[in-house]
Order: sequence, then structure tokens, then C-alpha cells
Amino acid sequence: MKANYHTHTMRCHHAIGSDEDYVKSAIAAGFDELGFSDHSPWNYQTDFVSHMRMKLDKFQDYKQSVLALKEKYRDRISVKLGLEVEYFPQYLPWLRDFLKQEQVDYIIFGNHYYLTDEKRVYFGTACSSPQYLDIYCQECISGMETGLYAYLCHPELFMRGYPRFDEHCEAIAYRICEAAKRLQIPLEYNLAGAAYNEINQVCEYPHHRFWEIAKEVGNTAIIGSDAHHFADLENPYYWDKAVHYLDEVLGIQRVDHLEFKGF
Ligand SMILES: [Zn+2]
Ligand SMILES: [Zn+2]
Repeated sequence: MKANYHTHTMRCHHAIGSDEDYVKSAIAAGFDELGFSDHSPWNYQTDFVSHMRMKLDKFQDYKQSVLALKEKYRDRISVKLGLEVEYFPQYLPWLRDFLKQEQVDYIIFGNHYYLTDEKRVYFGTACSSPQYLDIYCQECISGMETGLYAYLCHPELFMRGYPRFDEHCEAIAYRICEAAKRLQIPLEYNLAGAAYNEINQVCEYPHHRFWEIAKEVGNTAIIGSDAHHFADLENPYYWDKAVHYLDEVLGIQRVDHLEFKGF
């Protein structure tokens, strides 16, 4: 089974290609299942406009397009309707209703912003100061405890801002991994991050220390392409490298298919 549940579309303003391009690339790359998980819209209480997610009034277009592709390609690949969603406590009641009403198959937990992106605190940069490591950790755990999310995306996102994986990072990595294990939530090995690391010759996320801790704690891993270009799905380089690292080098239990029961 080869499945990818982390796929973006042009609606988030930083991805390239038509929705159908992504499906065609997934078929060409031998995927059995493709989940679309574009950055979710929010029903903001202010006039804030996010530069990195679809507006709420674009959601119907997204949903109809994904459902049409699901039908069109049903004999060749299973297509799922998902979203990559933050943990914004004040909007949780709205989110729960929205997911149910729109019959979204699943959501994955991309914990990028603190409380709401209206406040513009991005964990990737905020985590250069140690106090935000603890806040990031706590928000990851609180989000997972809602039971809404199928998995935690790029759990070591804090390494985008933090200079090196020190004792403080180790401590929060254990806390995140232990919570994910208790809640039976897989952790994502993020391929967009793997490509970023390799191209820029850095070790941000995925970070080998984080994954050694996940293995020690007994977590399950899932590979997420985090495709922002349809060609990302067709490039076997990072996928195969991740499979090798997780299965052969680390020996962590890997999940390659998810079952969704709706909201
Ligand atoms: Zn994105
Ligand atoms: Zn993503």
C-alpha cells in the first residue's frame, strides 16, 4: 500500500498545478490512495486575510473538485477529501461543525501558528526563543487530545527556528512523542522538510534526534509528501530515502494507510 495524505492545491497561494495534475502524478508514482489536505480555511472573527490558506468561500470549489476527481479516477486510485488544520482553540466549535457538515474525510495537524494566525506568531520562527518551545509542545499535545486529527505533521517544526537540537528540544520531543503514543496518533516524516534540509544543507525537520526519540518511545511514523507541486509526488528520491531511513536504519513502526471514520 502506498498512500499520501499530505497534498496541497493552488488555493493556498503557494502550490503549483491543477488538482487533476496531482491525481495523475500520484497514479504515475504508484500511489493507491491520495488525500488532498490543503491548508484549511477559517471563519475569522476579524477581517484578517491569510496569505497561506484558502479563503472560506473557496472551500466549495475545493470540495467539488476533489469529489469529482474521486469519481473520475475511482478505478485507478482512491481519493480522499482532507485538510491540513491548525489548533486554534477559539475556533474549535466552528471547526467541528464545519467538518461534519462538509463531510470532510480527515484532517491532519499542521501546528504552524500560535492560537490563531491573526496574531501572526509562526512557531517556525518564534521557536528561536526557548519559551516558545514549551508553548509549541503544549499546543501540539492539546491539539492531539481533541481527537480530531489523523496525524501530527512535521512534529519537530520548532527546529525551523531553533539553532540546535539541545536538551530542551530533547525534553519537548519526549513529551510530544509520549502524548502521540498515548493517543495512538502517528507522527509524520515530512518530505518537503527532507528536501529543504538536503537542498540547504541543514538539519531542521525531519531531525534525526527527534526520530531516534520517537523510535525509543515506540511511536508510529507516516510519510507525508507535503506536496506543493504535483511533480513532488512523482519524484521517488525523497520517498524511497525516507522508507529506507525509517524501515532499515531506524526500524520504527511505519503506517502506510489510514482508515477514517468521519466526524
Ligand atoms: Zn503549505
Ligand atoms: Zn502541508
